[in-house]
Amino acid sequence: MLLYRTARKNKLLLLGIVFVIVYMQLSTLSTYAAEHPDRVVLGKYYDILRDTSNAITIEEIINGAHNETFEPSKDDYLLFWHTTDTIWLRLSAKDLLVGEYDYWIEVIDKLDSIEMFLIQPDGSYTVQQRGLSHVEQQNISYRSNLFQINDSNVTEIYFKLEGTQLLPLSMVSFLYITDVFTQSVMDYKFFTGIFYGALLALLIYNIFLYFSFKERAYLYYVLYMASFIFYQATMNSLDIEIFGAILPKWLLAKTLTISAHLLYVSMLLFSIEFLELKKYLPRSYKVAKVFLVVALVSFISIFIVPNASIVNDFTLIYALTILLFLWIVGLRVLLKGQKMARFYMIGWTLLLGAIIIQALSFLTIIPFHPYFFEHVPAIGAIFEALFLSLALGDKINIMKKEHQEIQIVLNETLEHKVRQRTQQLEQAKQELEQLANTDRLTQISNRVRLDVVLEEYFVLAKQNETPFSIILLDIDNFKEVNDTYGHQVGDQVLIEFAQVLKNAIREQDIVGRWGGEEFLIICPHTVLNEALQLAEVLRLQLTSHSFPVVQHRTSSFGVASYVPGDTLHTLLSKSDKALYKAKAGGKNCVEYMK
Ligand code: GH3
Ligand code: MG
Ligand code: MG
Repeated sequence: MLLYRTARKNKLLLLGIVFVIVYMQLSTLSTYAAEHPDRVVLGKYYDILRDTSNAITIEEIINGAHNETFEPSKDDYLLFWHTTDTIWLRLSAKDLLVGEYDYWIEVIDKLDSIEMFLIQPDGSYTVQQRGLSHVEQQNISYRSNLFQINDSNVTEIYFKLEGTQLLPLSMVSFLYITDVFTQSVMDYKFFTGIFYGALLALLIYNIFLYFSFKERAYLYYVLYMASFIFYQATMNSLDIEIFGAILPKWLLAKTLTISAHLLYVSMLLFSIEFLELKKYLPRSYKVAKVFLVVALVSFISIFIVPNASIVNDFTLIYALTILLFLWIVGLRVLLKGQKMARFYMIGWTLLLGAIIIQALSFLTIIPFHPYFFEHVPAIGAIFEALFLSLALGDKINIMKKEHQEIQIVLNETLEHKVRQRTQQLEQAKQELEQLANTDRLTQISNRVRLDVVLEEYFVLAKQNETPFSIILLDIDNFKEVNDTYGHQVGDQVLIEFAQVLKNAIREQDIVGRWGGEEFLIICPHTVLNEALQLAEVLRLQLTSHSFPVVQHRTSSFGVASYVPGDTLHTLLSKSDKALYKAKAGGKNCVEYMK
């Protein structure tokens, strides 16, 4: 939880980092926009010759054989798209090179082969070769192709571009004097260091978040960030700058497509996980899986399809499709009421917008400019990364809240259940006790209960020296009832007899079935005389009571009172003897024993 809180606080830090990065991107952008006076965009200075035969030689060109075919360029940044043609570009030295400066020409395009011919007044020439086929010929490790001109006699400069089937053939080139060039390299290295450093920091930060939250979406986010860094690096040709000398040319030509594929796959994985597609949009989940398979096939085809332009074009279309798909899917999840998709949608909209601008630029619907295919997508992707990171935090937050709510409901339900169960148990316990203490037939206290109550009252009477009496009664000639009317009638008589007794006794008395057709009445705070009177009242009431079938029955009563020195045993024995006496005396009477 502590880590979570720190993570939330660090969101501000994160925002800070990202804004620094964006600012840096924009500041490099401004160098394009301001057009530094010492840094010349060469595009419009070129005359262009398209050699569809691929047979024209530099000698023919120097000899002026093709002078008529060269046409002046209209664009600052040239784009030839996929072509198998050889492109020749001509620069007039006298328009560009003034004074005794050393000059540098930078070509930022990743091309198969770029050759620069410096022509002397006498028609002789020197050649510098750059591009993927000649990586080893560039002494300075740098992301772009660098050509050096330190000969003021040069009259004309020619470029021969061969980029067939590798990448869209373009020519983004600048001319610098050495001082400016050195400064621009230093600026570039500085910005690159901070840019990638910050992106790596963001990546590591999210690795930590993954380990603290254990949310798989973070892992995919890290994967996405890593792919993005890789993609951005290949886009900026950092792969050539760093690994140009050791990686084979064919691989250098494919790094951009490879990194793009990794980027799309990680985007898909992240979105599937983050938006919980399987749960919210099962059909789109299936489509996303198809996209993953297509990405895999396309990835393999990078290495086996000989015509790279097909793979390149496909990659571009595929990218747009995936981005659109993920955008729509995000919108649908949001419309389904999943709040976590809010920041996701903002991020994705920005990235999609940036990529669309890039595509439009490549299709020259808007001008082809490094601004549109390098910086705008980079800024879009940075914002995307920021908003996805916010989205993750948001999601964790929402999940935490839901979890808490569920916990509360669970607790309430649990407490309620426990209360209910306790009540039920209490009731069951009471019922059981009732059952254990009640006579099954007559529904008055049974012998077990009588024994307990007797003991209690006896002890109390003894301790407090208060009067205490018991009355034992037995239905006369009950056997007859059974014998004459049957056991069931006998039972009915017993039930009714018990009810009559129960209604007839005083409030403080307790009656129970002592056994068979014998009953015991416990009379607390009752002296012998009172007990005798009560017994007499009961006897009369019972005798006058009319039972169904059997009509009237009489009973005999034996009364005994506690006197100091009595035990429960002697007290009971006295009542027993009194009852016996009553029976012996002709029944239907009350007797006592002192
Ligand atoms: P006495 O006047 O001397 O008490 O004669 P009595 O017939 O009542 O006495 P006795 O002890 O000989 O018979 C008691 C009878 O009560 C025997 C038994 O069948 C009957 N009895 C005891 N418990 C029940 C019972 O739960 N239901 C029925 N129907 N009869 C019972
Ligand atoms: Mg009897
Ligand atoms: Mg009896």
